[in-house]
Amino acid sequence: MPLKCNSCGAVYDPIDSAGYRNYHVCPAERIVTPAKSNTDGSVKTPATTEPWPNPRNENVILNRETHESTIISEGLGVTEIPKGKP
Ligand SMILES: [Zn+2]
Repeated sequence: MPLKCNSCGAVYDPIDSAGYRNYHVCPAERIVTPAKSNTDGSVKTPATTEPWPNPRNENVILNRETHESTIISEGLGVTEIPKGKP
């Protein structure tokens, strides 16, 4: 069942079509103010960005003492998305 990241809004399958685990990581930054361009396509005002607040990172770290693995950061968690309803 697809998952929606509650931190960044990305929708992804936790297991890909080949059966491998898909580790979601939120983007490092988000756009605060979009860039503006001149009529010739050159950049008039560059975009401004900020670090993504409370990002999710599903990459796994191993506790060498307990041999348990956990994801690096839960962020705001995930929501299950029924198939066919993006
Ligand atoms: Zn995310």
